[in-house]
Amino acid sequence: MEPILQCRELTKKYVIDDTVVTAIEDVSLDIYPGEFVCIVGTSGSGKSTLLYLLAGIERPTKGKIRELGKRIDLMNEGELTAFRRKNVGFIFQSFNLLPYMSALDNVALPLMLRGEDRFSRKKKAAHMLKTVGLSKRFKHKPSELSGGQQQRVSIARAVVAQPKILFADEPTGNLDSNTSREIMELLKNEVVKSGATLIMVTHDNDNEKYADTVVRIIDGRIVEVVRNK
Ligand code: ADP
Ligand code: MG
Repeated sequence: MEPILQCRELTKKYVIDDTVVTAIEDVSLDIYPGEFVCIVGTSGSGKSTLLYLLAGIERPTKGKIRELGKRIDLMNEGELTAFRRKNVGFIFQSFNLLPYMSALDNVALPLMLRGEDRFSRKKKAAHMLKTVGLSKRFKHKPSELSGGQQQRVSIARAVVAQPKILFADEPTGNLDSNTSREIMELLKNEVVKSGATLIMVTHDNDNEKYADTVVRIIDGRIVEVVRNK
C-alpha cells in the first residue's frame, strides 16, 4: 500500500528578533490510508507545529511533504487552500467554532466553502449533528453548549465533508476525563466508519491506546515509532 502522507527531513525554525527556535527538526514519517496515528510528547516538544506543517497550515523551513500524491510544500497559497478544503479536516483543542453561528451553521460551513447548495448542506449538517448525539441542539450557539458538546460540534464540522485526512490537536485537552473518553470513542467510531486517516496530537497517555501507531517526539525530533497493528 502507498502512504497517504509522507514527509522527509522536515524542519521548522521560528525566528524572533535574533533568537532561532527549532520547533521541528529532521522529521521523516510515512502514514498509511486509514491509519490512526497518535503524536505524543510533553508541552513545547513541537507537536502542534508538526501537525500544522502536515495539515498545510504552516510552511516548513526545509523538507518535503507528499500528501495524496501531491507535494503540498511546493503549492502556492491558493492551491494549498483548495487542497485543504477538498481533503483535510481539522479539530482544535479550543474547538474554534464561530460564536455567532448556530451549531447547524457551524457544521454546514465547510460544505458552503465547497460550494454545496443550501438544502444539501443543511441536510448533511443535520445528519452529522444527529450522529454526534446533538439532535436537540441545532439552533444553539457555541456559548450555549458545554465543552464536550462544543467538541462534538467541531468533530461533526471536521468530518461532514468526508475529508480523507483528519487532524486533531489535543481534542480532549479542555475536557474532563469522562467527557474525554466519550469524545475519543466518538472520534474513533466516526473515523473508522468514514475510512479517513486520523493524525492526532496528545499529551494524555490515556489516548494512546486508541491509536494504530504512536509517534513520540522530544525537542522537535521523533525518538520512537510504535506500530500496534
Ligand atoms: P507543543 O504543541 O508540543 O506544546 P509547539 O509546537 O506549540 O509545542 O511549540 C514547539 C516550540 O516552538 C516551542 O518552543 C514554542 O515556543 C515554539 N513556537 C511554536 N509556535 C511558534 C511561533 N509561532 N513563533 C515562535 N515560536 C513558536
Ligand atoms: Mg500544542
